[in-house]
Amino acid sequence: MTGKVLREIGEFGIINRIRKWTTSSDPALVQGIGDDVAVIEMGSKALLVTTDILIEGIHFDKSWIDPFQLGRKALAVNLSDIASMGGTPKYFLISIGLPKNISLSFVSSFYRGLKKEAKQFRVELVGGDTSLAQKIIINICLLGEGRKSDLLFRKGAKVGDDLLVSGTLGDAALGLKILQEKRKTKGLEKLIKKHLSPCPRVELGQAIAKHHLATAMIDISDGLLIDTSHLLEESGVGARIREDRIPLSSLYRKGARSFSGNPLQFALSGGEDYELLFTSPCEMRERIPPLARSLKIPITRIGEILPRKEGLCIIKKDGKDYSPSRLGFEHFR
Ligand code: ADP
Ligand code: MG
Repeated sequence: MTGKVLREIGEFGIINRIRKWTTSSDPALVQGIGDDVAVIEMGSKALLVTTDILIEGIHFDKSWIDPFQLGRKALAVNLSDIASMGGTPKYFLISIGLPKNISLSFVSSFYRGLKKEAKQFRVELVGGDTSLAQKIIINICLLGEGRKSDLLFRKGAKVGDDLLVSGTLGDAALGLKILQEKRKTKGLEKLIKKHLSPCPRVELGQAIAKHHLATAMIDISDGLLIDTSHLLEESGVGARIREDRIPLSSLYRKGARSFSGNPLQFALSGGEDYELLFTSPCEMRERIPPLARSLKIPITRIGEILPRKEGLCIIKKDGKDYSPSRLGFEHFR
């Protein structure tokens, strides 16, 4: 076989093709490929289904993350996808591929972590599959539910909406960079923790959905720019983001400069923050701060939605603007 290879089209190129090859006309399918979660109509409720894979050497390194943290994180990344729809996570299945020489205590610690995360978010493990593999492979399929009329999709953003984000950005990617470069971490441990132990914004997502505060929502798993571009694409709009509005933690401000020439690099293009990015009509503006205060999660307005032809435009601190060419991490690239 000749022709293109995955390196040329990237992860999103292949997903777009898969989407075209497998279009479905099932009337109960509210949302198939193309969002954080698949949505299937079940009476007045909707069934939510999402899956994520973690592969040793690609998504994690056993020398950085302990099995307990790995168990928690494997579930957390799936919970974040349900959070981004404003849904309620319920049940999950887990399939694991394991090399022969993995210790039983590794596996039991992994399941202790998984159970801890499951208990915190009130979800139940109901099954899975186990196989021999060359490297550790973890795949979780998480089911959830939501009221169809409350759920939020990547599509739905309207020109003039505010663009908002929860928490602070770039911490997890900077934490990963510190681990990769094996640099002195004194005082920066919390950044590493953000990478190893993400906290999915399930409660926030549900509150945004229930109170109809947003028109579209996505979780930031791959990076602010790339995940914004997914939301824009599905909504058929453009956006302007102001760099000086991007929420940064004090530790990030302290550490970022010594790891990159562009101190905003991790916040713009780094992945795994698992914060929520959403669009909200301006009329909702005064309802956001009370929500942020009640959940003790910062929510920051970082830009606005523009007509599609404007694309994604970033306003730098000096007032000049640019359209980013490289958006962030993408598998196969
Ligand atoms: P996320 O970063 O939120 O996990 P992805 O970018 O991985 O989302 O996936 C985007 C969409 O493509 C989702 O609807 C997902 O279910 C779908 N998808 C990803 N990989 C495949 C695949 N191999 N086959 C079918 N659908 C896929
Ligand atoms: Mg997602």
